[in-house]
Amino acid sequence: MNLLDDGLPFGFVAFGFLGRKTILGLFRGGSLANVGDRPYPILTLFSRKKVACLPFNGVRRMLFTQPIQNNSSIPFFLSHPSSAFSLDPLRMAFVDLLDTNCDIQVVRIVSAPFDENSFVVYQKGRTDCVVVDPGFEPDAIVQAIEKLSLEPAAILITHGHSDHIAGNTSMKIRWPAIPIVIGAQDASKLVNPVENLSAAFGFSITSPPADQTVLDGERFTMAGLSLRVFEIPGHSSGHVVYLIENSQPPLVIGGDVLFAGSVGRTDFSDGDFDQLARGIREKLYCLCDATIVLPGHGNSTTVGVERRSNPFVSDHS
Ligand SMILES: [Zn+2]
Repeated sequence: MNLLDDGLPFGFVAFGFLGRKTILGLFRGGSLANVGDRPYPILTLFSRKKVACLPFNGVRRMLFTQPIQNNSSIPFFLSHPSSAFSLDPLRMAFVDLLDTNCDIQVVRIVSAPFDENSFVVYQKGRTDCVVVDPGFEPDAIVQAIEKLSLEPAAILITHGHSDHIAGNTSMKIRWPAIPIVIGAQDASKLVNPVENLSAAFGFSITSPPADQTVLDGERFTMAGLSLRVFEIPGHSSGHVVYLIENSQPPLVIGGDVLFAGSVGRTDFSDGDFDQLARGIREKLYCLCDATIVLPGHGNSTTVGVERRSNPFVSDHS
């Protein structure tokens, strides 16, 4: 991420609470950060206190983009106040290795401001990997891949909403040869800020165009992963999920279709709850109970758990 400063001269004093401590700092606005290839407004906090996070009344979400030292300036992202997600206290992107109990390794990179899950998926013993839905914090994804000495073979996109594609440009800059793979119906969202919803949040995100589009039922192999595509519209008209068939238990890269205890929003212009519910029942709930679902937001879950207890789409609803 590059910081650009347009020098707009406004500032204000902010109070916040960190645990039981109050911190005091000065925000100055008007800076811009490049996210993907687009500028994004940020505030910078100048504080004398060493802080780890700063909940701030009236602002739903801010993101530290670098570790905080005493007396240093700290760039923040501000989320759009109409964000529909209820968000945790602000924090940096975090990276964890999910316990999948199989020979497929999954690294999750959770990025602000929408707590979107980007994944790096690879087979134990191999050095190639796929990157899934690179979000707003591509630097953390690049670092994770480099730390593991992996080479990406492809970028798999579940759907074209901006929080799932914002890191595509950075991935392509670092690894120009890797193809962007997306469902055929969502390919136009990559290059259209209105369609990918970034315009509605007051900024403009685009990605390089699709290199490969996929359709329902299609099978292909990437980085040793045997992948099968299912189209499940309803959250986004061209949403696909990727089933990793040569994993035991099978793994679904699910995007914003089925979450642990929830399902994807269907209130966008191309949303449709009935379509979403039908797709979940017909294409996911027929998989074996042990199938692991890696959703685009929140923790992983299994087909069996959701089929029995999901409050929106289950055996009982
Ligand atoms: Zn989405």
